[in-house]
Amino acid sequence: MAKKYVYFFGGSKAEGRGNMKELLGGKGANLADMCLIGVPVPAGFTITTEVCTEYYKNRGKLPKELTKEVEKALVRTEKVMGKKFDDPKNPLLMSVRSGARMSMPGMMDTVLNIGLSAKTIPGLINKSGDARFVYDAYRRLIMMYADVVMEKATGFESKDGHTVREVLEHTLETMKRERGVTEDTALSADDLKQLAEQFKVIVKDRLGKPFPDDAREQLWGGIKAVFQSWNGKRAISYRRIESIPDHWGTAVNCQAMVFGNMGESSATGVAFTRDPSTGDNKFYGEWLINAQGEDVVAGIRTPSPLNRATKTEGTMDHKSLEEINLKAYKKLDAIRLKLEKHYRDMQDIEFTIEDGVLWMLQTRTGKRTGFAAVRMAVEMCESKLIDRKTAIKRVKPEQLDELLHPMLDPAAEKAANVLAKGLPAGPGGGVGQAVFTADDAEAWSKQGKRVILVRNETSPEDVHGMHVAQAILTAKGGMTSHAALVARGWGKCCIVGCAALHIDSRSKTMTVDGTVIREGDWISMNGSSGKVFLGQVGVLPAQPDKNKWYKKLMGWADDVRQINVRTNAERPEDAAQALAFGAEGIGLARTEHMFFEPERIIHVREMILATDVVARREAVMKLLPFQKKDFLGILKVMAGKPVTIRLLDPPLHEFVTLTDSQVDELSRQIGVSSAQINTRIKQLHELNPMLGHRGCRLGIAYPEITEMQARAILEAAAELTKQKIKVFPEIMIPLVGHENEFLNQEAIVREVAASVEKEYKVKIDYLVGTMIEIPRAALVADKIAKQAEFFSFGTNDLTQMGFGFSRDDIGGFLPYYLEKGILPLDPFQAIDQEGIGQLIEIGIQRGRSTRPALKIGICGEHGGEASSVKFCHRVGMNYVSCSPFRVPIARFAAAQAALEWPRTSKKAKSNGKVKVKTKAKGKKKSKKK
Ligand code: PEP
Ligand code: MG
Repeated sequence: MAKKYVYFFGGSKAEGRGNMKELLGGKGANLADMCLIGVPVPAGFTITTEVCTEYYKNRGKLPKELTKEVEKALVRTEKVMGKKFDDPKNPLLMSVRSGARMSMPGMMDTVLNIGLSAKTIPGLINKSGDARFVYDAYRRLIMMYADVVMEKATGFESKDGHTVREVLEHTLETMKRERGVTEDTALSADDLKQLAEQFKVIVKDRLGKPFPDDAREQLWGGIKAVFQSWNGKRAISYRRIESIPDHWGTAVNCQAMVFGNMGESSATGVAFTRDPSTGDNKFYGEWLINAQGEDVVAGIRTPSPLNRATKTEGTMDHKSLEEINLKAYKKLDAIRLKLEKHYRDMQDIEFTIEDGVLWMLQTRTGKRTGFAAVRMAVEMCESKLIDRKTAIKRVKPEQLDELLHPMLDPAAEKAANVLAKGLPAGPGGGVGQAVFTADDAEAWSKQGKRVILVRNETSPEDVHGMHVAQAILTAKGGMTSHAALVARGWGKCCIVGCAALHIDSRSKTMTVDGTVIREGDWISMNGSSGKVFLGQVGVLPAQPDKNKWYKKLMGWADDVRQINVRTNAERPEDAAQALAFGAEGIGLARTEHMFFEPERIIHVREMILATDVVARREAVMKLLPFQKKDFLGILKVMAGKPVTIRLLDPPLHEFVTLTDSQVDELSRQIGVSSAQINTRIKQLHELNPMLGHRGCRLGIAYPEITEMQARAILEAAAELTKQKIKVFPEIMIPLVGHENEFLNQEAIVREVAASVEKEYKVKIDYLVGTMIEIPRAALVADKIAKQAEFFSFGTNDLTQMGFGFSRDDIGGFLPYYLEKGILPLDPFQAIDQEGIGQLIEIGIQRGRSTRPALKIGICGEHGGEASSVKFCHRVGMNYVSCSPFRVPIARFAAAQAALEWPRTSKKAKSNGKVKVKTKAKGKKKSKKK
């Protein structure tokens, strides 16, 4: 059967279905779906994403059969709408919009009012009785068409650096100034007619071609331009950020125009079925009388709230739709409920009221903040709209990040200077240095600076700068403006519509009531109240445990989770923070982090510089009391939960990177000559230190280091055990590649343990295990597991050595890899499941072949990244370990993994003993330790 390229929708009929997003894009599938459930939608048709793929494959040529299919669908559209395209008496106008599988707000192009020409304009004036409306639509068409079809799609570059849109907008502003008006709506029919004529002259002049006066040429120009915009700069950069594959392509939706700008009985708006910032179950939206959709989103006029319930201080005197046209509002509210019930999720909708008649133009799953995502998931579950599984699946683990992030300190806020107030578009606190362009934001943040991007309004061209900024501040726009939508999607602090700001992006300054803020000046923002402050306001840590929805959702997640989540921490205060976030143990305490305090580092250096065993032993043993104190601290805080302590790992030279004067100072302190110190430092120099004398190789060369560390751990454990405090240390040997390395180090630890147990007359519950971070270790895991009581995958080193990428130098080439699509992601952030993942799977399988109950976890940075956590669940690990602030994310990702790939066999508890579990699904799990 020949391929079908075009799918019609209109009236209560549709050829497409809601589940055809891959072929029809999200917008096209939902338009079809809305028709089928009886929601009023202007008729039209969707050209499939396959046409986009063919368009690119055939170097910008559309398939031949498309023309016929489009013409057929156009006729059906005309029938439903009772108008004809290109008809001189009763013309139908069309919109042409993009629509990819996943929503890419504002990243691709749209052309509205297609079909207006010298032939159709008089008929439309006659029919509508409103010349002003017709010329308003016409001047918009010329601007959009010139911008999208004639300039962007052709890659036209002007000589003066200005876009045609900028020039046309300037012409419009000039006319408004000359007429002494501030609003577009105050221009008369004659003004707009004259403006359209001026536009046409400018277009021909700048672009070398006239604006086409032919309806069909406009339609096909629009269709091609939308396909072309799939590969536009901003669409590509958005796809990179959101990991959307290039081959998906976009669909094109051609739809009958309905007009919100046909006078006072017409309006247009965008709305969310619940508040997308807070998740509150209130109909939340904005609308404008006598306007087209772009006016609401572009922030040119400040829109009004949809109802009384969502008015704010700033919009109190605006009239809501509920107040002005209760009938239309009620109808819209009924559609809101219908859509939420149908999609079982919060929807982001666009509507138009044409001369009192309500039309829905779009529905899609609404982007939301992390706060809102959590609250909605819980409330929708409690009202039985969705079940618990769906509630857990619906929140992205990374979204929890927002709830875990700091807010401005209210006390510090009170004392701070309020600079201005805008609309609270994205919650949380943001503190940074003001920058005025997206490029500057990117450049400054590359230098490690924290920036706030300040713009009049943002456009999709700014996304790269918005992405790296701590927060976004705009002078114009409403809660549904581009800045607000994008920031909310990313969970970023954002304030929009801050009208008191006078921004001059050329001089890179903003003025507020006479105060001038220059590039680099510090500002702070409270994205929940909309307040902007001068200077750096203090921040408070997040308190997710005061959020009842978060607590409930995490409880549900913990009920289904099947692996444990631990933390990487070596300081008792970090361990305590992790415990508050739900950590069930420590998966990695890096002991070298305990060596850097001044009173300790001196002994470390003494040890390194010692010339004989006796002197080295003496120096090492000076560290014992310090280490013991550290271990007492963390073991006590963790109160019986497993604590994995890793023996010294880094190359020794890291402790002796000294300037000349520091060498002299050290020489005075330890009585070794500066020359001797320098000679030793030279000896320690290695060409490849990460492959050099580090990890267990240190303990093998200098057994007294292992002995001291083992003693410190075990004495601390013995003391606490005697005090009846439960402890469970797991001593971990790093960088093992051969079982003999492990055996060598284990022997030292066991000997110390026997002696400590004898001295303290207690039995210590402890384990000795190893890291699997060298590829060879994964391959001989069966041999290593004969002795090692646990494995912890060190995926930082495993990725480094498996890929042959230096973990410290990948920054030099990774950007090219990502840009050219050689790698989809940074393998040091998310586990490369295809390659390094195999090493992990082999390691697990071989390790358990000799020790079936072997406890296995991960402690590389990947342990807190959602896709990696899911992988760890899938391959049978017992736990993941990550930094304290990522613990909730890991808990949640683990729960999602358990729903996706439920384990039915065994569930290991953290202490290494294995408990046989019956059925994973549906049953309440035993609480993890
Ligand atoms: C690892 O290599 O993954 C690891 C956790 O150890 P480190 O990062 O300290 O080398
Ligand atoms: Mg390592």
